Amino acid sequence: MATTPGDISDQLVQTSVWSDQDLHNHGIPVYDVPFVSVGGGIGSFAMVDTLRIAGLTTDQIRVVSDLQRPSQTYEYLASNSQIRREHRLRSDSGSVIDCIWGWPGYALRESWADKNPAAATTVLVEPILANYYTPKAGQVYQSLDREAARISWNSMVHPGVVRHVRKRDRGDYFVLFTPPAGTTTTKRQAFRCRYVHLAVGYPGVRMLDDLQNYREKNQDFQRVVNAYEPHDHVYAEMRRRPCTVLVRGAGIVASRVLQRLIDDRDEHGAKTTIVHLFRTYPTKAEGPPTFRRPVKKGWSYQGFNFPKGSWGGQYRDKLESLEGDERAKFLASIGGTNTAPRKYWQEQLDRGEREGFYIQARGEVESVTPSADGRQVETVVKPSRGATGLTTEYNADFIIDATGLEARIEEHRLLNDMLLHTGAGKNVRDRLDVERDFRLRGTDSGEGRIYASGSITLGAYYAGVDSFLGLQYAALRIHDSLAEVGFGKKIGPVRSTAQWWKWARNKAI
Ligand SMILES: Cc1cc2nc3c(=O)[nH]c(=O)nc-3n(C[C@H](O)[C@H](O)[C@H](O)COP(=O)(O)OP(=O)(O)OC[C@H]3O[C@@H](n4cnc5c(N)ncnc54)[C@H](O)[C@@H]3O)c2cc1C
Repeated sequence: MATTPGDISDQLVQTSVWSDQDLHNHGIPVYDVPFVSVGGGIGSFAMVDTLRIAGLTTDQIRVVSDLQRPSQTYEYLASNSQIRREHRLRSDSGSVIDCIWGWPGYALRESWADKNPAAATTVLVEPILANYYTPKAGQVYQSLDREAARISWNSMVHPGVVRHVRKRDRGDYFVLFTPPAGTTTTKRQAFRCRYVHLAVGYPGVRMLDDLQNYREKNQDFQRVVNAYEPHDHVYAEMRRRPCTVLVRGAGIVASRVLQRLIDDRDEHGAKTTIVHLFRTYPTKAEGPPTFRRPVKKGWSYQGFNFPKGSWGGQYRDKLESLEGDERAKFLASIGGTNTAPRKYWQEQLDRGEREGFYIQARGEVESVTPSADGRQVETVVKPSRGATGLTTEYNADFIIDATGLEARIEEHRLLNDMLLHTGAGKNVRDRLDVERDFRLRGTDSGEGRIYASGSITLGAYYAGVDSFLGLQYAALRIHDSLAEVGFGKKIGPVRSTAQWWKWARNKAI
């Protein structure tokens, strides 16, 4: 039985379908609302923004979240990986998370605010005559806050962490959550709702196994760090004394970390030597014949994490038509590890190589241990499978894991519970198996439906799920699916135009 009032018993946790009586017996207060979004980050925001524009009112929507602002987790991860408010993101001008119409884009807004046409002009000539325009993080956060206020975001947010989403015996669902300690008299509360939207972001950040083992065995969380966790002490130390740092990964996060390291050399006189370790080192262009990713010095370059046509063009249509292994293969060929081809980064690395402070290494890690004198960390690297060469040891003061690995969905408590109890399954990439309209397969409950968006759905019928545009696309598809069953109105041309005018005048809805 439950121990504290409003707590949940083991017996209920083991039961897949709950009744109103079950929750009553446990003293758990239940509130009715038609739609609940779980997460409260950028994915929930995109969803709720769309529903509000489609005419749903604040009392029809609840967002269960432990965040103060929708961009909070994003800003935390971006800032740790060295993208601060004044730095530019990866996505383009049209990926405007605060405006479902995509216009005006960030470039035009930046030009307008600065009274300088440079940003808007870049968009006209990118990517041939200029790098893609990308917005500053601070601009994105600010505009998102403005739209959140306009749609009365705060009035829909219910603080808490969701522990279980369970089918109700008479159809619909219970969303059971833990409110912040000390704010309620019961340990748990629940929403009874017809529609659930999951937007819980990354199931967790994972380090490379050899680095994780090193950290745990040696209890050394200072010298071996993950780029997504706070690690400013590493840069501070490198500005104080000459250090060697070993960086692993060849994606956008690795690029940004390398930029930070070289900027610190250029601007603060740091004497850092960088060893950059590649596990796979491409030497020729990658990707399907219709779309080639240029490769230079081990880096695979493309503007965005997937080709632009994946968001709304021919690649989107193709992916929608593929099933099983074919879909997995196609996704791998248009995605894969890659970074943005920024001239600034390339110039820094070329210079680093010439001057000897940026050294590339290739191979598979055999071991990571404290060095003989205990002052550094030693990485032993053997040639990758099929390659020849010598086993090499690299001693470094710090190791930064910039591979950006995500944990398995089973490691997320709520998602694991849902795999066990709601009928949810996994797709070809071991994430949640959703339909083309982002409805979670196998989880319908009477008229009730569960939807999911974000990185937890990668491997389904849409590639760019973990992006601003992808989250908005998912929100629109989910909205269409809901409108078909009478929840909210379709956003036709008249509503769309009227709503855009409201958006442009920042008029509350
Ligand atoms: C460093 C970085 C840079 C990126 N740059 C770009 C870019 O330039 N352009 C672009 O388009 N995309 C970018 N992305 C990708 C994507 O847009 C972001 O990851 C975005 O934040 C994803 O939104 P989300 O809602 O899925 O996750 P989040 O914004 O992380 O929100 C999910 C929230 O759900 C909460 N949560 C989890 N479990 C529960 C639970 N059980 N109950 C309640 N709450 C829960 C989490 O704590 C989290 O706060 C970037 C991602 C990262 C990490």
